[in-house]
This record gives sequence, structure tokens and C-alpha cells, in this order.
Amino acid sequence: MKNIVVLGAGTAGTMAANMLTKEKVFENWTITVVDKNNDHEYQPGFLFVPFGMMPAKRITKSRRKFLPKRAAFVQEDVVAIDRDAQVVVLESGERLPYDQLIIATGTVPRPDLVPGMEDGSLWYDKVFDFYTLKGAEGLKAELKELKRGRLVVNVCEMPIKCPVAPLEFALLAQDYLRKRGRGFDVDVVFVTPLDGAFTKPVASEALGHLLAERGIEVVTDFQIESIDNERAELVSYDGRRVHFDLLATVPPNHGSKVAADSGLADEAGFIEVNKHTLQAVADPNVWCAGDATNVPTSKAGSVAHFEMDALVPNLVAAVQDLPLTHSFDGHANCFIESGRGEALLLDFNYDQEPLPGRFPIYGVPALRLLGPSYLNHASKMGFELVYWNMLLPGRPLPFSADMKMDGKIVPEDAR
Ligand SMILES: Cc1cc2nc3c(=O)[nH]c(=O)nc-3n(C[C@H](O)[C@H](O)[C@H](O)COP(=O)(O)OP(=O)(O)OC[C@H]3O[C@@H](n4cnc5c(N)ncnc54)[C@H](O)[C@@H]3O)c2cc1C
Repeated sequence: MKNIVVLGAGTAGTMAANMLTKEKVFENWTITVVDKNNDHEYQPGFLFVPFGMMPAKRITKSRRKFLPKRAAFVQEDVVAIDRDAQVVVLESGERLPYDQLIIATGTVPRPDLVPGMEDGSLWYDKVFDFYTLKGAEGLKAELKELKRGRLVVNVCEMPIKCPVAPLEFALLAQDYLRKRGRGFDVDVVFVTPLDGAFTKPVASEALGHLLAERGIEVVTDFQIESIDNERAELVSYDGRRVHFDLLATVPPNHGSKVAADSGLADEAGFIEVNKHTLQAVADPNVWCAGDATNVPTSKAGSVAHFEMDALVPNLVAAVQDLPLTHSFDGHANCFIESGRGEALLLDFNYDQEPLPGRFPIYGVPALRLLGPSYLNHASKMGFELVYWNMLLPGRPLPFSADMKMDGKIVPEDAR
């Protein structure tokens, strides 16, 4: 019997397992999913916990519950991939043979890479990440106590997963402080290594305006060197310093160690894949999806979902020695919470940057693009239900996996 092994039972690995078990060609294959723990966290919820918009207890559910019954679930750390032997090595020493391997090990926050961050006296006192549930809960407690001073939201380096989440954090924090009647005592400052609010020029301009409108100071081109714990300051390589009373940081995001050591990854540990087929460049029996890839689009759950529409049929074709016909176009869509009960929506791919207009649902131009609306916010909050009930089981969503131009407004000078 042939084997598919899926490394990681997060968003991408769970979807992959669910979709593969529905394929006739794999009826007689074993499908094994490995993850180091059984806690599937709804990561978009980390953003809402600090502001009391989502209870922490709703974030985590059993991974097993969302995996198909036919797949075996192994709860263990994967320590190595022996590609010559086509074997995955577990912490216990057990070796899982594979014919086809899917790497879906996501990203790992690395606060240890910034001197003075994880090893500093302010870590989890005045310095928190919000890309972990523990960090998000710590921020919730500290935000309640913050009466005056500077709340700094900082991105250490790119790429990070959900690159819009730090912007959302800054906008939600500003709104939270405003509602508590202390808006004038606490300044919200956004510190980024980019030259603007976001990676894409048109969206960066729109988001930059929004931050300015809300009175959020933006410090750009800030390449963090260290954190000075004595003076509670971020220090950049060019000698600039930014003081904080409370810091919500996004540490460097790297690929998992097992991916980095696979011989298939780039310097940051992300697997080098063909950006259209999602097959590893250096090994046709290895595939990769979700945050673990090096594809040049956002690292997001929506992206993992759209990738599956190419990866699964391509894997089906590959095991039958057929040509790979499905192509992932880099499609990403991201809601951006902007506070005041509204959110923006970005929709883009490898070639098309986010444009204004309307995003179609079931063909109806329903959601506003690149501008705030209540319906976008309601959709973002509703995404939690979609995530558990449609996305993870690999059910089709009411829009196409390929990015469509329907409803988008192309500026005159780009026509
Ligand atoms: C604050 C925040 C807000 C976000 N908001 C959004 C949003 O609004 N919309 C959106 O689309 N996306 C959002 N995202 C991004 C989204 O959550 C991720 O892109 C998505 O979860 C990626 O899925 P993945 O399967 O690649 O990685 P993950 O879901 O992180 O799964 C990786 C899995 O691999 C396992 N693993 C890693 N290494 C090993 C090992 N050696 N052995 C065994 N198991 C291992 C891990 O335990 C984990 O379960 C957000 C993320 C954050 C942090």
C-alpha cells in the first residue's frame, strides 16, 4: 500500500487531508497526518482576544475532530525528513515511510532572534507578541491597565503570516482606547521595516491614509537591531530609538526547523516550490502548502485554501504520471479590521495588486474593496464559522479560487 504523509495539522494540513481522502485515486493509499499537539488554534482570533472581541476559550479545538476519519493522526514532533529513504522521522525514533509528502508546518515566531526580546526583562511584562494565544491574553490584561504613554505595534521583519494583522492591531487598539475615553492619553505608534503601511503600493497608500486619519504615527524603514530593556526602547540598525510603555510585537516568522533542515528550503526556512503547482522545486515527491511555502503572496488561511485547488489535482495527476494542469495564481483575500465596527477587504494575486470596487459573493458584487464597511467587518467576524465548517473540511466557498477582475475598478492610467 502506498502512503501520503502530511506534516502539520493546521489550516493547510487539515484541508489537504480532507480533500485527499475524497479523491478516488487515493482510495487504497494510507493517509497519515502528523502534528506535535492536538490543539488546533483559530489564529485570526488572536487579534480579537486583547480587545475582548473573542473569548480565548473559543480559539482552540481538538485537531482530530477536523481530520477525516480515514486518515491516521499521529501526535508527535517531526524531527527530520530523510528524502533519500523517503521517510519522516519522529521524535520517538519511529520512521514513517512516504510515497508523497505534503509539508504544511507553517511558520514559527522567533522572538529569540532579536536581542533583548525573549531574553529581556520586559518580555511578557511590557513586551508581548500577539501571534500566540499566551501573548494575546497577556496583552489583554496590560491594555486594561494602560492609562497613558505609548502603545507601540511593531513588525520586526518580513515576511510574516497575515501581514495585515499588525495594522489591524494598531487600528483596533486606537479604537479600544478611544472608547475607553483615554484616547488622548495613549499614543498608538506603528513601527515597520517597510517603507509604508503595507507591501502593495495602492493598498499601502490607502492604509497609510487611514492610520494618519486615526492619529496613528507610522515609523517606516525601521530594521530592528535590539530592544533596550533599561530604557524600554526599540533600537534600529541605523541608531533610531522608539520608546514604548507597552509593546505589541510581531517577532521574525521563520519556517519550522524540520522544513529548514529538509534541503528544500530558503534561508528563512520556507520550502522552495513552483509557485503555480506547489511541488517542491528540488523533489517531485514533496509538496508544500500554507505558510510553509516561499510563494510570493501573503501567508494567510485564505491563500492556503486557494492553493489546495491546485495542489490536490496536481498531486492526483502526478501519482498517475499525468501532466500537472492546475495553476495557483497567488490569490489572497484579507479582511482588515479598521475599528469603529468596520473592515476593509483586499483581493489580489501574483500579478494584480489590490484594487477598489466590489468583491462578488455568488456572483453578486457584495463586499466593498479597499474601503471600510460594516459588512466587511461582519464578514470577518463570521469567517470563524466558515473556517471551522467550510474551509477546514475543504468545502467550496461561494467564490472562485482564481482571482477574478469582476467588480474591480481599474485606474485609468493602468488601463
Ligand atoms: C493574529 C493572526 C491573524 C490572522 N488573521 C487571518 C485572517 O484574518 N485571514 C486569513 O486568511 N489568515 C489569517 N491569519 C493567518 C492564518 O492563520 C495562517 O496563514 C494559517 O493558519 C496558515 O496555515 P498553515 O497550515 O500553513 O500553518 P498552521 O495553521 O500554523 O499549522 C502548522 C502546523 O504545523 C505543526 N508543526 C510545525 N512543525 C512541526 C513539527 N516539527 N512536527 C509536528 N508538527 C509541526 C504546528 O503544530 C501547526 O499545527 C492570521 C494569523 C495570525 C497569527
